[in-house]
Amino acid sequence: MAILTKAPRGTQDVLPSQSHKWQYLEKKFMEVAGLYGFREIRVPTFEHTELFNRSVGDTTDVVQKEMYTFEDKGGRSITLRPEGTAGTLRCAIEHGLLGDALPVKVAYCLSAFRYEKPQAGRLREFHQFGVEMLGSSAPASDAEVISMVRHLFDELGVEASLEINSIGCPTCRAKFQQALHDHFAARREELCDTCKDRLERNPMRLLDCKSPICQEIGKGAPVMLDFLCDECTAHFDEVKALLDAMGIAYKVNPTIVRGLDYYTKTVFEFVTDKIGSQATVCGGGRYDGLVQQLGGPALPGIGFGMGIERLLMTMEACGCSFPEEKECVCYIGAMGPAAGAKAAQLVAEMRKEGFWAECDTMGRSVKAQMKYANKLGAKFSMILGDSELEQGKANLKKMDDGTVSEISLKNAEEMLSVIYAAKLSDVAESLSL
Ligand SMILES: [Zn+2]
Ligand SMILES: [Zn+2]
Repeated sequence: MAILTKAPRGTQDVLPSQSHKWQYLEKKFMEVAGLYGFREIRVPTFEHTELFNRSVGDTTDVVQKEMYTFEDKGGRSITLRPEGTAGTLRCAIEHGLLGDALPVKVAYCLSAFRYEKPQAGRLREFHQFGVEMLGSSAPASDAEVISMVRHLFDELGVEASLEINSIGCPTCRAKFQQALHDHFAARREELCDTCKDRLERNPMRLLDCKSPICQEIGKGAPVMLDFLCDECTAHFDEVKALLDAMGIAYKVNPTIVRGLDYYTKTVFEFVTDKIGSQATVCGGGRYDGLVQQLGGPALPGIGFGMGIERLLMTMEACGCSFPEEKECVCYIGAMGPAAGAKAAQLVAEMRKEGFWAECDTMGRSVKAQMKYANKLGAKFSMILGDSELEQGKANLKKMDDGTVSEISLKNAEEMLSVIYAAKLSDVAESLSL
């Protein structure tokens, strides 16, 4: 049955030959986040559906079309998280993290789920890095969060340019919503059914409709920047001044609105043209009303999310370097049970020292064992038989240049000193030299 051997549409396996790239990215992300004071938070994969209706917004594409929602056996409506912010904020409120020293800074690496049309770099189960910074309304926090992404991308070698916009506060946005309403209402009959409904409830969401006709009508729509109140204008100017001061290049793009309802003031995207048409590799913004809207204190916040699959695609396209896959340090082949036991003993000692070592676990011939050692890319190898056991000595061979060292088999001590002396990169890494 094909259904047993084919993963569901929109999901992706990470094979052992690729997972070191994921480990590298996760480590780098948490490292850079740590430099900015973000500590890791881990939240559940599913939450009450209401949490996303309230935060992401019930007129968004995400909530209306893309959520994996189901009733559990207890009759609750449950949703697989479509993004990371809502659950993170719920967690921060529930555990009283917002009563501590502000700002609270958290970072996460999580899977998220959206029922979308699968395409390159867009999956139904995808993975995200993100941060949330809670408690500061100052432009300095916007600039800090944005600069962290720039820092990470520079470190990874990702070529992506920063675009920023302001979508104002509830006060100034009301006028904008009215202007948008008027713009779209002029061609109401041509709008898709979803947008006809949105037109009265939340005209801003018409701007992210994927229907070609709605996009066509959206061209020439009013932009929020023309409606910003004094406070929002001053905030945006200050963010730009701080980015300038930090030497971070950006472009103001008045069409960025992000597809989620909770954003206020600053929104930003890092975009790249390296993976086909222009793609967003990181998106984020400020969400000053959200914590309170979810039942927490009236605290502002700002954060971003970045899709890891897309980031990896971009990195491949940019020719970014990844660390080498780990290779086996030593393979000890053996002929017969007594030699096999000796090999197992030496391998165990090497593993305790932190080296990847292997011996036969398949009952294969020595020739087949050595073939396998080559496949593993073993840096050293050794073959044990009756004569080696009798003499208590064997030849340890360095595979790349064929150098042979005679070592004592009493324990792994001599073997280890030869391996240390070779200063392999794997070895150096495991010893953090
Ligand atoms: Zn405003
Ligand atoms: Zn539409």
